[in-house]
Amino acid sequence: AKRAKIKELLKSTAFGTEVTIKGWVRTFRNSQFIAINDGSTISNIQVVVDFNNTDDALLKRITTGAALSVTGELVESLGKGQTVEIKAKQVEILGDCDAEKFPLQPKKHSLEFLREIAHLRFRTNTFNAVFKVRHALAFAVHKFFNDRGFVYMHTPIITGSDAEGAGEMFRVSTLELGNPPRTDDGAINFKEDFFGKETNLTVSGQLEAELAAMAFGEVYTFGPTFRAENSNTTRHLAEFWMIEPEVAFNDLVDNMDLAEDLLKYVIKYAMENCAEELEFLKTRLLEEEKQKPQTERSELDLLAKLNFCLDNEFERVTYTEAIEILKNSKANQKKQFKYLIEDWGADLQSEHERYLVEKHFKKPVILTDYPKDIKAFYMRQNEDGKTVRAMDILFPGIGEIVGGSQREERLELLEKRMQEMHIPAEEMYWYLDTRRFGSAPHAGFGLGFERLVLFVTGMTNIRDVIPFPRTPKNAEF
Ligand code: ATP
Ligand code: MG
Ligand code: MG
Ligand code: MG
Repeated sequence: AKRAKIKELLKSTAFGTEVTIKGWVRTFRNSQFIAINDGSTISNIQVVVDFNNTDDALLKRITTGAALSVTGELVESLGKGQTVEIKAKQVEILGDCDAEKFPLQPKKHSLEFLREIAHLRFRTNTFNAVFKVRHALAFAVHKFFNDRGFVYMHTPIITGSDAEGAGEMFRVSTLELGNPPRTDDGAINFKEDFFGKETNLTVSGQLEAELAAMAFGEVYTFGPTFRAENSNTTRHLAEFWMIEPEVAFNDLVDNMDLAEDLLKYVIKYAMENCAEELEFLKTRLLEEEKQKPQTERSELDLLAKLNFCLDNEFERVTYTEAIEILKNSKANQKKQFKYLIEDWGADLQSEHERYLVEKHFKKPVILTDYPKDIKAFYMRQNEDGKTVRAMDILFPGIGEIVGGSQREERLELLEKRMQEMHIPAEEMYWYLDTRRFGSAPHAGFGLGFERLVLFVTGMTNIRDVIPFPRTPKNAEF
């Protein structure tokens, strides 16, 4: 028989018809009521077995976690909180589950515990909801750009360039060849490791996206990026996904508008298409909040927080204004910041970003015109000679979610800046060619996809919004 999805059955009123479902047992009560989940929805469907007419050996094998196929009649349910159930005619065990050893018992497990069994946590309601929202957000990103005529450009994973110059790259190695190139003292010569060349895993697709933007006008890339983050924060992964649009003829204001539109579009899309999942996550968060003292509880629930973000224009502030606000803040004067803000020029830490968003403006903030010395070489210099046309978008609970800029399109200034920052111009001839041959103003940004998923799901640890987190301690599978 054709398998019906539980999500569809729960909405059906075709009582009396015969249906077949396949899924995993969540609970089995009184040798009679099986709650089955097939992943199509967070909700389970109840299957009622006639235990008087069912083989004892079979009943014993219906344990939490087991995979079953059930055929039976769809009937109206009299039980509380459910509308339909299945009166089983035939129950078949597709895969047994060792109940003693199965770590996912029918109770609430902590996220810490679930992180330790990341290979099984897909089977929980929380991760069902989180990864469905993640899926919807990814789909919405493509839809947003496609609807606006952007071309999805796949930029390379293996690259010779370091876009950020932050020295956080993973080297690509051909060790499996058995005979890697060696230096005179016997060490592996990474300079020649990719068939005679030094390469890394990409930290950003931006530079390559710029090449395409200077021909297609509007492009974006959305792929995995890699950074050797050895810091173990709740906001950094060694492998994360980034959305990077790059648009010819855009300036910094166009860039801010595009980023704000994108964020609002994808959040709205998730709210419209993942209502069940977000309702579940909202309730989950409310329960968590109840554990906290009254004064630390957040005023808005998850959905209110998302709606607030949609309904309000992001605050646009310059770095210089932000430094003044931070310098004069109580938190700074009472030395509550770990890093005190004393001078113009300091890089902002996430505590400062969150202060601006959560305490001062109480809404998402776009910070612009940062000092050039704390930003990458490719940003457009302002006339003041000190700042660049950078923008970071800061979100409540997250800190930086977007980093972007208008790019330096003037060849001479770009070359000078590269020289100052010791970036070898010869190796970057392909990048500089865009400035030699028909240079034009252009702008783009990088949106960290996991930080977006964190915000929309209300989760607080980045390891809980990516199916297979890569951090210094996580790389088994
Ligand atoms: P941060 O200051 O948080 O380290 P960054 O300034 O180094 O971020 P960018 O180079 O501006 O990051 O990258 C663009 C976006 O990618 C960031 O705004 C953030 O959303 C995301 N991002 C950067 N590093 C990571 C990481 N290690 N894990 C997850 N997302 C990241
Ligand atoms: Mg960083
Ligand atoms: Mg940053
Ligand atoms: Mg940044």
